[in-house]
Amino acid sequence: MGKRALLNVDYTVDFVAEDGKLTCGVPGRAIEDRVVSLTKEFIDAGDYVVFAIDAHEEGDALHPESELFPPHNIVGTKGRDLYGKLEALFEENKDKDHVYYFDKTRYSAFAGTDLELKLRERGIDEVHIIGVCTDICVLHTAVDAYNKGFNIVVHKDAVASFNQKGHDWALGHFVDTLGGKVV
Ligand code: ZN
Repeated sequence: MGKRALLNVDYTVDFVAEDGKLTCGVPGRAIEDRVVSLTKEFIDAGDYVVFAIDAHEEGDALHPESELFPPHNIVGTKGRDLYGKLEALFEENKDKDHVYYFDKTRYSAFAGTDLELKLRERGIDEVHIIGVCTDICVLHTAVDAYNKGFNIVVHKDAVASFNQKGHDWALGHFVDTLGGKVV
């Protein structure tokens, strides 16, 4: 039996709050308690808990998202803080060895980061994914996890999207195409 990790994706003010720069709206706020309780459960169990958080520089014209979305998750702004009660939970636990916060460069938490190395070093073979948006950053992270041979578990009450159709499609894709579990 390998070990498991929790990948906490993009649950920030800009992606979740009512006045967030790229908010997924009510569905995003509805999962707050579950995101917090799952994160706490994994931290308390001593499992590896990762916060993979989108990071952009102000006025970065070369980033491919610049043509697709308004500016969001700009480094140094409040919009990039974790949303709601998750921020306090993170602050309480951020110095623990098994809690790891890093900047995401693209939709996938694996793109241009050391996430795979961190997981392999720890003998982790199962990644539990939560956060937003189900059909964008959660999806791309799950696809990369699949390609790298990790088992995938997506917690359906702790992922959300502004796009209900996309959300539902992605939940099916995790199981039917990526061989993961949706719990
Ligand atoms: Zn972004």
